[in-house]
Amino acid sequence: MSEQLSLNRVSIKYSNTAAVTNVSFALPKGEIGCLLGPSGCGKTSLLRAIAGFEPILDGEIKLKGNIISTPSFRQPPEQRSVGMVFQDFALFPHLTVQQNIGFGLTQATKEQTAIRITEMLDLISLQSLAQRYPHELSGGQQQRVALARALAPDPEILLLDEPFSNLDSVRRSKLAAEVRSLLKRRRITALMVTHDQDEAFAMSDQIVLLDQGSVAQIGSPRDLYHYPVSIFAADFIGAGKLINLEVDAAGNLLNGWGKLSSKQWSGKNGGRIKLLIRPDLVIFDKKKGHPLFIVEKLFQGANYLYHLAMADGQILSCLAPNEIDHAIGDELPVRFKLDQAAVFKTEST
Ligand code: ADP
Repeated sequence: MSEQLSLNRVSIKYSNTAAVTNVSFALPKGEIGCLLGPSGCGKTSLLRAIAGFEPILDGEIKLKGNIISTPSFRQPPEQRSVGMVFQDFALFPHLTVQQNIGFGLTQATKEQTAIRITEMLDLISLQSLAQRYPHELSGGQQQRVALARALAPDPEILLLDEPFSNLDSVRRSKLAAEVRSLLKRRRITALMVTHDQDEAFAMSDQIVLLDQGSVAQIGSPRDLYHYPVSIFAADFIGAGKLINLEVDAAGNLLNGWGKLSSKQWSGKNGGRIKLLIRPDLVIFDKKKGHPLFIVEKLFQGANYLYHLAMADGQILSCLAPNEIDHAIGDELPVRFKLDQAAVFKTEST
């Protein structure tokens, strides 16, 4: 697989602030990547460096095998074959939809521009709104126009900066799915920035999780969800709870919940661990479950999300089908899919 975008040990600094340190990752052609992490972890700085707006202090950035940034060289943004979609869509208010889409086609003839605009309008299914102005469009429609404008010059990579954050949650997930299928159909390589893991999960093939300017983990959404490599990743991804527990040398949990596999627990002695318990690993089991008190209950349509208190006060969550309808204050008998829980040793004796 050829690498469309690659970053090799990239660092970015603003006067005295190290914003990004030693970040490396690569995106093959046609893949959708995502820079994910909490506010201030360096996502925007990286995206701006790839677009050519930010110099880098160390490392190199390549697009389609060609160097576009090193500490001593920065190809200007307009010479990089990069399309940008901004958080606020940044459409030109005085231009119609079709004029916005055609705006970047400076090298094309009038005829080529018209053909490309029609093609882009087809792509985003907004043919009927070609003559409208941005203020006459919904947020989702504006987003699609911004996407079409960025894609019209046929860039080598599309960069999306928090592309769905200005939309309500229902439209956000619908549009994320639409945009993903559109990019996939055209085999467009894209890199998105978000702090929202649902967006990252819905859109990306590969997630680069950042923590304070450094890579915390790189992997598919599924990998990050099931195999977080650190407590930071476990805490940031998914709605799981990190539960403090003790195990004996054989991996038996001292609270009687069961036994960890040899893959999960290879300590010679017992020790303290943090166990990442996702809501979907906690199963209602009337006969064999361990009773835990329900302290909160949220109706989610098909499921209830129960918050359950352990004897020592730690809280974990359980996702149960909505026919399992118990009241706050009741005990809910649950068992755990322990073999799927990530284990972090905090102290081994
Ligand atoms: P994110 O997009 O993940 O929120 P940023 O890349 O915007 O993170 O910021 C990373 C770090 O760099 C933060 O500590 C931020 O305060 C700092 N930073 C960002 N832009 C500038 C700037 N123009 N001048 C100084 N510091 C900056």
